[in-house]
Formats: sequence, C-alpha cells, structure tokens
Amino acid sequence: MSSVKDFMNAGEIKKFSCGKNFGFLNRLFSRMSDADKAEKLRKIKDLVSQSETGRETLAFLEKNETKIVFEKSKGYGFYAPEKNTIVLNRKASDQDLALTLIHEARHAKQDKTMDNISLEMTPETLLKNGFMIEADACAAECVFAHEMMEKGNRSFFDAQQKSIYAPIGAAFEKEMAESGNANKAREAAMLKWYDLDVVRESYGDQYVALTKFAAEKWVEDPFTKSVPVKEMADKLCVDAQGKGYLSDPSVLDRPEKIMLDDCQSVELKRNIYGFCQAKKRGLDGLGLDKIFTRHYDGKVTTFLFDMNGETRSPVMTACLKRGAER
Ligand SMILES: [Zn+2]
Repeated sequence: MSSVKDFMNAGEIKKFSCGKNFGFLNRLFSRMSDADKAEKLRKIKDLVSQSETGRETLAFLEKNETKIVFEKSKGYGFYAPEKNTIVLNRKASDQDLALTLIHEARHAKQDKTMDNISLEMTPETLLKNGFMIEADACAAECVFAHEMMEKGNRSFFDAQQKSIYAPIGAAFEKEMAESGNANKAREAAMLKWYDLDVVRESYGDQYVALTKFAAEKWVEDPFTKSVPVKEMADKLCVDAQGKGYLSDPSVLDRPEKIMLDDCQSVELKRNIYGFCQAKKRGLDGLGLDKIFTRHYDGKVTTFLFDMNGETRSPVMTACLKRGAER
C-alpha cells in the first residue's frame, strides 16, 4: 500500500481523523521506506554512471567509503566531512540529485586532497579556500552535464539552467563551443561562480560566521595557516588526470574574487577584534590587506582599512546596531 487513496479504499474506512486533506496520512505515506531510498539511490547512480565523470565519481566514493543518505534537507544536499557522508534531499528531482551527487562528491574529494575551511586558516585563506571549493564543485557539475549532453541527454544542463547557477553552465558551454577545450570550459565555469553575487555573498556569510568560532578559541591556533592561492589551486582545481585547469590561479587574488559587503565586513571586524584582544596581538599576518569590502555606495576598500575604523557608512552603522543577528 503506497498511497492515501489505496489505504482509504482498502476496507470499510470512510473517515480517518487526520484532517480533511488527509494531512497526517499524506505525511505518513510520503515518508521514504528503506526500499524506496535504495531504489532512488540506484536510479541516481544509474544516471550518473552514464558519463565518464560520473563513473569516476562513483568509483571515488566507493573507494573513499563515503556514505550517501536521503534526508529532508534545505537545498539539494550537502557533504558532512566529519561523517564522510553525502546527504541528498529526497524531495529534489533525479536530475538535480545527480548534479548534487557530482558536486558533493567533489567536496569529498577536495576534503581528501587538502584541509578545507579549517579554523586554523587566516581569514584571507579561509575565504579564498571556501570560494574556491564551491566554484570548483560547480564546475565539476558542468563537466558531467556536458558529457551527458554529448550523449544526447540535455536534461542535466536544462536542470542547471533552471537554477541560480545557470550562468556557470552557460559559461562552460560557450567556451566549449568556441575552443572545444574541456579544461578551458571548466576554467570559464569555475571563474563564473565568482560573478554570482547572491551565491558568493551567501557563502561569504557562512565563512565570516566561522571566524567567530576561531575567535572564540575553538581551535588551538586560530588564523595562523596561510596558503597561497596557487598552492590551493594546484591541489583542488584539477581534472580527472590531476592536471590543473586554471591557466592563471593568481586571478583568484584579485579584489573582485574576495569581496565582502558592508555587513560581512562589520561582522568580520567584530570577530577579529575579539581574537586580537583575547590573544593580545596585532593585525599582522592575517592577510587583511588582501580581503576587500564593496561598500553600499560602490566604493571598494581593503578590509585592513575597514579594521582601522575609518569607514562608517549608514549600512555599517545599521549592521552594528543589529548586533549578532548576522
Ligand atoms: Zn558546495
């Protein structure tokens, strides 16, 4: 019995006290059984395995003993490194879940390759590394979607085109059409990620929030590990053969690639002050001159400049008043 209708038709039941829209029963029947989950996972893996990138991904996940589970979650899914588990949102479509599996598996691989987003990183490294792993995981999705399109199945590309990540897929296909070079296309997709302001800001929020934990001494030596972007890119931005796909990793040092907004700047400022006071130390060595703030009026300053308290915009004042809300 798999639906409310079957249940109601199965006997003499005419009424069931669960509200007129069968809310309770609908919830009960929409819960996924273990067999449903296994079936769904088999289907997603079948889809993914139709491409070379997909097969490599599945082989990696198996070797890495990464678990894949279905749960109710916001968004399409996520990777939990501490549990080596990919969580997929069971409500999402097969296409979205296949793309998500490629994306999250890429995070699992990145996590194997280097320490991602650790609180030991300086704020500069933490932000650059955080943005880089997201951009790289999105570019991996494009490689998969393109391979499927070459096999005559454009449903994955179309699914990506319906999401906020559409410009990334478009950038990949544009470069592919022009140069026919998969790694150049991958680079174009990866760099496009940085142009998606809403996405970059949302991840920026999360990473700035993490600096609070570092400042509150959740780790022995917060903000001490500085990794140059080239070193990060050499490890993370590589194709299946381990070849780097970024022609010039130093573009990731450019201001527009590590840009905070007013509110993030205020929040980071507060966290770093807390850290400096607790550790009785100055601002040197944190890479603050290499982080940038785009202010409400479009003016760009270095975060080090903001730290010294010389900028006070209405937006910043409002953010300060809001306190720890963000
Ligand atoms: Zn991600």
